[in-house]
Amino acid sequence: MNVSVVLFTSDLRLHDHPPLRAALDGSREVVPLFVRDRAVDGAGFAAPNRLAFLADCLRDLDAGLRQRGGRLVLRSGDLVEEVCRVAGEAEADEVHLAADGSAYAQRREERLRHALEAEGVRLHVHGTVTTVVDPGVLAPGSSDHFAVFTPYFGHWSRQRLRDVLGAPRALRVPEGVGSEELPDRKGLSGLSPALAEGGETQGRARLTAWLRSGIPAYEDRHDDLAGDATSRLSPYLHFGALSPVELVHRARAAGGPGAEAFVRQVAWRDFHRQVLAARPGAALADYRTKHDRWRTERTAGEDVEAWREGRTGYPVVDAAMRQLLHEGWMHNRGRLLTASFLTKTLYVDWRIGARHFLDLLVDGDVANNQLNWQWMAGTGTDSRPNRVLNPVTQAKRYDPDGAYVRRWVPELAGLEGAAVHEPWRLRGLDRAAVDYPDPVVDLTDGLARFKRARGRD
Ligand SMILES: Cc1cc2nc3c(=O)[nH]c(=O)nc-3n(C[C@H](O)[C@H](O)[C@H](O)COP(=O)(O)OP(=O)(O)OC[C@H]3O[C@@H](n4cnc5c(N)ncnc54)[C@H](O)[C@@H]3O)c2cc1C
Repeated sequence: MNVSVVLFTSDLRLHDHPPLRAALDGSREVVPLFVRDRAVDGAGFAAPNRLAFLADCLRDLDAGLRQRGGRLVLRSGDLVEEVCRVAGEAEADEVHLAADGSAYAQRREERLRHALEAEGVRLHVHGTVTTVVDPGVLAPGSSDHFAVFTPYFGHWSRQRLRDVLGAPRALRVPEGVGSEELPDRKGLSGLSPALAEGGETQGRARLTAWLRSGIPAYEDRHDDLAGDATSRLSPYLHFGALSPVELVHRARAAGGPGAEAFVRQVAWRDFHRQVLAARPGAALADYRTKHDRWRTERTAGEDVEAWREGRTGYPVVDAAMRQLLHEGWMHNRGRLLTASFLTKTLYVDWRIGARHFLDLLVDGDVANNQLNWQWMAGTGTDSRPNRVLNPVTQAKRYDPDGAYVRRWVPELAGLEGAAVHEPWRLRGLDRAAVDYPDPVVDLTDGLARFKRARGRD
């Protein structure tokens, strides 16, 4: 019997999984393998929230495989060594893997290819598993990647999508390939108390519910902080518990302006991936430097701490930062305004904010996180790099009656309506009754500092 290994990475699902489908071609036996890559864990990506979500995803994948007669094999260590070892134990002659455009994954893939070839095992790498359109597929005539979203989206929208693949009905795993015990989120500490549950089963249920009742209002309500009217599918996409290709097919089939706006947002994910694949250095260095001399942990330590803990004295900023701590997730409008506040109003290095987000976000993703941070810091692909989001104006526009702030900042729950956004306006006994800090910075001073720094005063 011919045997294939399917190496799962950021594609922890059974539906619409091209590597799995290809591995099963010709009724082969398969070894579904996940390797906890020591190098990835060591690089600081093993944040507790994401480890918990990963544990859920692996357990759910294993359960799905068992329903079909298989099981998941888990190993940990050096990914290349472990894949070769498993291929040897199973006497496999091919390994299937999803393409990944990140610099680290590219190097790892090269090492893996060489190591497997030396053993006479073929490596097959499959596109459109973790993206709708893979990095490098679309490029303007003048460059190796798109630096502006709108033309990218035009081309992206016209790409023909491959068909969605069903989950396999049954599979056979060869005997004698041992597995480590699957991790369990119960053994983890430091988790956000209201962290979402991971796994393909959850992801698919959420997608179905979203298409039925959420997507129609997306265009009008996606910025409504209190309404919480976005899909919350980002962690399922990050871990590949949902297929982005299937997501776009199903959203388009749902139709309407809500679906169009939603699909456009999903395209941002591919956009950032193709930028990072072409410019891997942008994970840590300015994509378009403005020669900032940012304030740092050393020069702005107290401001950074206040921002992290949600006690800057700007209620909408604090609400969003506390949502992040509590859920390991934050509303996109909150991400935008807290990132603008840190980089522009406080003039703190975007990398400090990006690191904090990566420490907590369950959807924490190098391409999306670092490049969105750069966008807000004005060092990325934004064509208006000096725009500053005023937290009070943002609060009044996107949380007009203050419900989001009251939900996350209980100290202010007694203030009615939009008054909750400016507690510093309270006087005398009313102010004394509220146990909430004064603003860490005056907005006019913060703006003047930023303009000076960018040579625009
Ligand atoms: C400073 C900052 C940091 C961010 N860090 C991350 C991150 O680490 N991981 C991450 O997935 N997203 C990140 N985003 C993008 C965005 O905020 C989240 O994808 C979104 O809030 C997730 O919620 P949702 O699934 O309900 O989104 P929806 O509004 O329902 O959108 C659907 C999907 O589209 C994609 N998407 C939406 N907006 C963006 C965007 N601006 N850029 C890229 N993809 C997008 C996501 O995959 C999302 O799940 C960041 C944004 C900012 C401003």
